Amino acid sequence: MKECLECGSTSIRFEKNIRAFICENCGFMITRDEYYKLRDDEKNSRKGKEENSKELYKWLISKKE
Ligand SMILES: [Zn+2]
Repeated sequence: MKECLECGSTSIRFEKNIRAFICENCGFMITRDEYYKLRDDEKNSRKGKEENSKELYKWLISKKE
């Protein structure tokens, strides 16, 4: 994790003992597993948005014809 999900700070420390990222600015903590899962979910939702805009584009094109 490069940036804190809560405050955007880049002062992130990885705690090996608990395998978690900790923000040194606001104290936000997330385990590595949770973080990767969250990141994957974000990717998936972004993919969905792209598909939605494609559908919208198709709809706009079909309207013109
Ligand atoms: Zn933070």
